[in-house]
Amino acid sequence: FLPQVVKSARVMKKSVAYLLPYLEAEKEGCEIEAKGRILMATVKGDVHDIGKNIVGVVLQCNSYEVIDLGVMVPAETILRTAKEKNCHIIGLSGLITPSLDEMVHVAKEMERQGFDIPLLIGGATTSKAHTAVKIAPNYRHPVVYVPDASRAVGVASNLLSDEHRPRFFSEVQEEYAKIRERQANRGVRKNLISLEEARERRFNKDGWNGYHPPKPAFTGVRVVDDIALSQLIERIDWTPFFLTWELVGKYPKIFDDSVIGMEAKRLYDDAQTMLRQIVDETWLSAKAVIGLWPAASVGDDIALFTDESRKDRLATLHFLRQQTPPTEDAPSYCLADFVAPQVSGIDDYVGAFAVTTGAGIDAHVARFEADHDDYHAILLKALADRLAEALAETLHERVRKEFWGYATDESLKNEDLIAEKYRGIRPAPGYPACPDHTEKAMLWKLLNPEEQIGLKLTDSFAMMPASAVSGLYFSHPRSRYFNVGKVDRDQIADLAQRKAMDLVVLERWLAPVLAYDN
Ligand code: SAH
Repeated sequence: FLPQVVKSARVMKKSVAYLLPYLEAEKEGCEIEAKGRILMATVKGDVHDIGKNIVGVVLQCNSYEVIDLGVMVPAETILRTAKEKNCHIIGLSGLITPSLDEMVHVAKEMERQGFDIPLLIGGATTSKAHTAVKIAPNYRHPVVYVPDASRAVGVASNLLSDEHRPRFFSEVQEEYAKIRERQANRGVRKNLISLEEARERRFNKDGWNGYHPPKPAFTGVRVVDDIALSQLIERIDWTPFFLTWELVGKYPKIFDDSVIGMEAKRLYDDAQTMLRQIVDETWLSAKAVIGLWPAASVGDDIALFTDESRKDRLATLHFLRQQTPPTEDAPSYCLADFVAPQVSGIDDYVGAFAVTTGAGIDAHVARFEADHDDYHAILLKALADRLAEALAETLHERVRKEFWGYATDESLKNEDLIAEKYRGIRPAPGYPACPDHTEKAMLWKLLNPEEQIGLKLTDSFAMMPASAVSGLYFSHPRSRYFNVGKVDRDQIADLAQRKAMDLVVLERWLAPVLAYDN
C-alpha cells in the first residue's frame, strides 16, 4: 500500500541523514550504493506534483537515488541537471494538457542533444496513447509511460538492467507501434460533422420562448472571505483523495473492502488528525472571488456586459462545440447554448469564480520535508486539494442560494452535491466541456484573482498555488457537463478568428482535441 511505503520512507531517510556525516568522515569506500540516479520534474508551466512526489518516494524506498527538481521546470534545467549529475533516467510529470506539448519538447531536445537515457512519462494528463503517438517518435531511446507509482520500480529496474533492458525496450516499442497504427486507422474512420451542421443541432435551438432566466442578487465582482476552513471539511469529496494514494473505491464503502479497507481507514484517520491541525492552527485559508454579469450567447461565444443596459460589452468568452457524430437527435453541445441568445432579447446572466486554499501551505510542506516526512508533506498537499474542491462546492451552493439566488430552498446532502443533483453547472476551463485553457486569461482579467486572492496563472495556464479551482457558472435548469471531444479544422479556423489568435498557436494549445494532424 502506497501510504505505508511513503510513511516508511522517513525511517530510511532519517537513518541515511544520521549516518551520512560518519560515512563522509570515513570518506573512501563508504559511498552509499544506489541502483540508479533518477531525475524527476514537473514540466514548465505546470505546478502539480503529488503523484510525482509519491513516485519519487517509492523509488527511493527501492534504493534509487532521486533528484527531484520540483515544479515548473524548464527543459534546459532538466537536461542540464541530468548531464551534470549523470542521471540514468529522466521522469517527467504533468497535470494539465499544455504539459503534453512541453513533454514533446523535452523529448525532442533530448534527441537533439544526443541523450541516450530513458525518459519516463507520468501524471494525470498523460496517457500511453499520447506517449506512443506524440512523444516516443521524437526520441530514439526508451520513452515509457508509467501509469502509476506502483509500476515505477518495475519500469526503472527493467530499464537499468543490462540484461532486461533490450527485451523490455523492444516490447514497449512493439506495443507503442501498434497503438500508433490503431490511432492512424481510427483517424480515418472518425467522421466528424461540419461546424455548420453542429450549430444547426445546438441545444435548445427553439426552446427560448417563455424562458425566464433568474436574476442575480448582484452583478460585478466580489471577494468572498467569510467561508471558514472548518466549514469545508464536511463538504470534502473523499473518493478522489483515496485515488491519489492509489486506493480505488468509493467513500465510505471503501472502508469495507476486504483488501484495502483497513489501509483506507488508517489513511482517513491520519487525514482527520491533520485536518484538525489545519483548522486549529490555521495552516491554510479559504479564499474566493466571484463575478456575475449580464450575458447573452452570440453563436458559440458568450458576451458579458458591463451593466443591465447591455450596451457595452465587458468581455467575450469563447467555446468549442461538439462535432462528433451525434446519436439520433441528441444535440451537439456547446456551453454557449446554455445562455439565452442575444437575438432572443431575453436577459440572461453568467458567473465566474476562482478559489484557492493553497495560501500558507509552502511553509508547512517545507517543515515536513526538512524532517524527511514525505508522508505528511504529501498528505497536506492532498488535503489542500480536497479543501479547494470543497470550497468550490460550498461557494457554488452559496451562489445558487444567495448570490445568484435561484435555488433559495435547495437542501442537499453532501453526497447529493457530489452527484451534482443541483440546478446549474460550474465548468472549469481545461476540462472536457471547455478544453481551451487559454480562456483562463479572460477569467483572470475579469476576476483579477492574483490581486484579490493571491492566485496566479503560469505560462501554461496552471493555477498557482496548486490547490485551486476556477470556472464559470451557468444557471440553466438543463445545463450539464459534456465532453467536446475531437474537433475539426473548420471549427479551429473559426475559433482562431473569434479569439483573434494565430491559428498555429491555437492549434498548439488545443492539440489534445484536434481530430486532425497538424
Ligand atoms: N467532487 C469532485 C469534483 C471534481 S470534478 C472533487 O471534489 O474532486 C468536478 C469539477 O470539474 C466540476 O465541478 C467542474 O468544475 C469540473 N468539470 C467536471 N466535468 C467537467 C466537464 N465535462 N466540463 C467542464 N468542467 C467539468
